[in-house]
Amino acid sequence: MSQKNLVILGSTGSIGTQTLEIVRDKKEDFKVLALAAYSNVDLMEKQVREFLPETVVLYDEKAAKELKVRISDLTDKHDIDVLSGMEGLKYIASFKECDMLVAAMVGMIGIEPTIKAIKTGTDIALANKETLVTAGHIIIPLAKEKNVNIYPVDSEHSAIYQCLKAQDRSMVDKILLTASGGPFLGKKYEDLKDVTLKDALNHPNWAMGKKITIDSASLVNKGLEVIEAKWLFDVDIEDVEVIIHPQSIIHSMVQFKDNAVLAQLGLPDMKLPIQYALYKGNRQTMPEHKIDFFSLSKLDFLKPDHDTFRGIKLAVDSYNRGYIYTTVFNRANEVANRYFQEGRIKFLQIYDVIEDALLLDFDYCKTPTLDEILNVEKEVDEYISSRY
Ligand code: MN
Repeated sequence: MSQKNLVILGSTGSIGTQTLEIVRDKKEDFKVLALAAYSNVDLMEKQVREFLPETVVLYDEKAAKELKVRISDLTDKHDIDVLSGMEGLKYIASFKECDMLVAAMVGMIGIEPTIKAIKTGTDIALANKETLVTAGHIIIPLAKEKNVNIYPVDSEHSAIYQCLKAQDRSMVDKILLTASGGPFLGKKYEDLKDVTLKDALNHPNWAMGKKITIDSASLVNKGLEVIEAKWLFDVDIEDVEVIIHPQSIIHSMVQFKDNAVLAQLGLPDMKLPIQYALYKGNRQTMPEHKIDFFSLSKLDFLKPDHDTFRGIKLAVDSYNRGYIYTTVFNRANEVANRYFQEGRIKFLQIYDVIEDALLLDFDYCKTPTLDEILNVEKEVDEYISSRY
């Protein structure tokens, strides 16, 4: 196999660093064309020195300037461009020689570069679920038109992708999306009134970035994933059912019309879904980390408690109201998540912020354009910051 050229958006985050670990182990298979991150100069400097990309983007302009100074010894010998801002992200997303764009930034910032890459005809390894949640109605048809494949990095969606491989899609009855339930599983509304950021970040099974860990605690992450599954696998949203499975061994399942259920199992580790996406759905070897079935005492399955954890219902309701409301839902959550991290609101207020933002009326666009999505994003920001 010839080397695949990668552009990695979000290289300093949890998925980005694990992607680079795989690239480091499989040097013969990959070349890093470009790396991008938000503002982490220290880690980006290390990554640039190791992987020598042709172009680096730090979204934050000040951070980009500092990086330029720090790697000036390198740029004497190597041709490395340092760029910033959305223009920088869109520029590296449109490299024609890129074989795979790893979309692993957090939040709606990923929409424009991802669309740019699809327009260029580049396959996507998608970890940035917010992109599909808010712009799935634009991205999925565009990918079809451009013959671009989208490989899910999200562990549940990777599992579903694996279960659907070589199956008759018309025989799919239901997607069974598993959820760990997060650190607050079993707790009731009253129990959650005073939980702290530290409590929310204490995920029982998965080591992930902060934003998604908090989203897992509120089950907003699972709400986003229901919409993500709808778009990725072309099913009705009602046919995506969430099952709480606290051990996180089954990563999701597909039920077929003959009542057969296929599942993908593994230890909770993002390495497999990342690697599986990087190799475009082809299996490779993976060291260590095998399930020891004899050490698993049992696998449990529970119904989600929608009264306490409103994340899934809010997601499905916003989707059913018209696509623009998935942007409202997602953006309100992004802001609420940040406010919770900053100590400005309490955990349960995350739901209140989302519900409050969903009072905004945008009935003029059920299938919003990209510009409309980006405008609504701004409006939601302003609305929330004026109220909380
Ligand atoms: Mn997931």
